[in-house]
Amino acid sequence: MPSILCPCGSNRSYTSCCQPYLTAADIAPTAEALMRSRYSAYCEGEVDYLITTRHISTRKFDDRINLVRSLKTTVWESLRIINTQKGRKNDTAGSVEFIAIYKQPEWGQLHERSKFIKENKRWFYVDGEMLPPVLPKRNHPCWCGSGKKFKHCHG
Ligand SMILES: [Zn+2]
Ligand SMILES: [Zn+2]
Repeated sequence: MPSILCPCGSNRSYTSCCQPYLTAADIAPTAEALMRSRYSAYCEGEVDYLITTRHISTRKFDDRINLVRSLKTTVWESLRIINTQKGRKNDTAGSVEFIAIYKQPEWGQLHERSKFIKENKRWFYVDGEMLPPVLPKRNHPCWCGSGKKFKHCHG
């Protein structure tokens, strides 16, 4: 059986990247690993993982219903990690800046700096700061991954 690439864009197989975290066979060792696994959970519709990896201080009573709704209407296309600060194995806090591309069905870009903290050896997503979209130069490939030049994309 050919190995399936991980949705998080690591270019590694799913079974050796995010899947062990989603199945609780292993614990994400860094903030970036947790960030990637949460992105993969969005791709795979793993609502429980998205709830349990969110820090208790920012969970809301309607998280589940909102996640289920968002997973039905949004297709996550790609993830690019821009920058990671701290969040390594020996840290207890960190942040990861990323760009995630989705279709809803129109193309969209989520550019966010997510905050993570570690408690009892586990990383948790706390919350995120939305950042302005990153737009390429007119003659460069569009951010949506269509392969078209930015100036020719999105009609
Ligand atoms: Zn992955
Ligand atoms: Zn485009």
